[in-house]
Amino acid sequence: MGIRKEALKTIDRIISSKEFTSTLAPVLQYLPIGQIKKNIIKNKIESIQGCRIVSSSPYRAIINTSNTCNYRCKICEIHFLHKKYPVHYPNAIDLMAFKNMNQILENLYLLEFFGNVGEPLTNPDFVNIVRYIKQRFGTRLFLNTNGSLLNSSMASSLITEKFDEILISLHAASEETYSKLIGGDFKRVVDNIATISAIKKQYREKKPEIGIAFALNQINEREVEDIVCLAYKLKANYLQVSHYYHGLNGMEKDISFMNMSPCGNYKVNAIYDFAKFIGHLKRKELTVLPKKRPYLDEEEPETPNCYAPWNTIKMDGCIEYQNSHYISVCNRITLFRLDYTEFDFNGFHETLWNHPYLQYMRATVNSKEQNPICRLCKNPENHKLRNTDNVEYRRRRDEAMQQFWELAESYLKAPEIKGIHIIKQNPYT
Ligand code: SF4
Repeated sequence: MGIRKEALKTIDRIISSKEFTSTLAPVLQYLPIGQIKKNIIKNKIESIQGCRIVSSSPYRAIINTSNTCNYRCKICEIHFLHKKYPVHYPNAIDLMAFKNMNQILENLYLLEFFGNVGEPLTNPDFVNIVRYIKQRFGTRLFLNTNGSLLNSSMASSLITEKFDEILISLHAASEETYSKLIGGDFKRVVDNIATISAIKKQYREKKPEIGIAFALNQINEREVEDIVCLAYKLKANYLQVSHYYHGLNGMEKDISFMNMSPCGNYKVNAIYDFAKFIGHLKRKELTVLPKKRPYLDEEEPETPNCYAPWNTIKMDGCIEYQNSHYISVCNRITLFRLDYTEFDFNGFHETLWNHPYLQYMRATVNSKEQNPICRLCKNPENHKLRNTDNVEYRRRRDEAMQQFWELAESYLKAPEIKGIHIIKQNPYT
């Protein structure tokens, strides 16, 4: 997330503290502060107390709106997935299906549109979905897009609906590099970004915040200064820097800095320092995110308590089953496949959100007897391993996942629920 992320993190830290949840929070939840805020407070209390069975809802959701993509980015796993599943379903979840999810939507503070492969804007109902959610619930909305369909009409609609934030996956500052990494129409995407910035100015709107994503690798590393200049020129609100990870994509060879961390770290510094330098000259600094420079080989400090099993629901794209999404609370483990035409969302709390396997996660994520997948996730050594030896990291993760399921099954028996299928292996790995 963009510029407000740092401020939100601070607020989150405060309201996630034991002091807040034990003193102010119980009082606040009885004040007329609106359903979304009340749910956040209830959620904080339940997560700090470690409740297995919850009455609050997730306040953050990530939903894939389409498995279809108009691009075939070389750095995307779409190539591998389409080869593995010659029959694949678009699952462009429509407005009616969204309306069935009101029990989830009405409590969300933040809804992010992305997940696995697929361009969210290929969903023909996208603007209607945005309009419905914004007008009915006022939810904060985020979109990660390739930017190719963000034409002036789409941009105007999103600005009118007060869409909050759009992150555009550019990863290049020149046509040549773009065609090596992405393969689409660089000029069109750049023009689209310029257009949305111009319309915002014309409407005197600050939203949506525009971010440009740049996943650093051995091909685009020569453009670290150019991408900063381009972000300025396009009036982007921020530049989002990350590292490219070699995966099951269309690149012929590994172009990551995974085994060359000093070079990768050098380039990270080059981006941040150049943005600072230009900012100094222009007297307006470009925000480069994350605030903490993403060095490849830096061990993260031991992860503190994690509250994802209370506050987040992910509905990732599922291409091999019709009308389906994969359900999880984080990127480490997928728990279920949900058929959104079969599942009764009116029973969301009782059946899905308090499912025995989610209860198991809540009981063990922050306890001394951590479940194997959270133990793996929180171990600082594995953070480093993920960046430097992905094969070994995956081996450890698969082992942890197998142990997770053995323990989860012995914890509580899972009932049969229409539309919910248990997933014992992360899809697409
Ligand atoms: S694996 Fe566990 S600790 Fe890691 S993000 Fe998921 S829930 Fe949190």
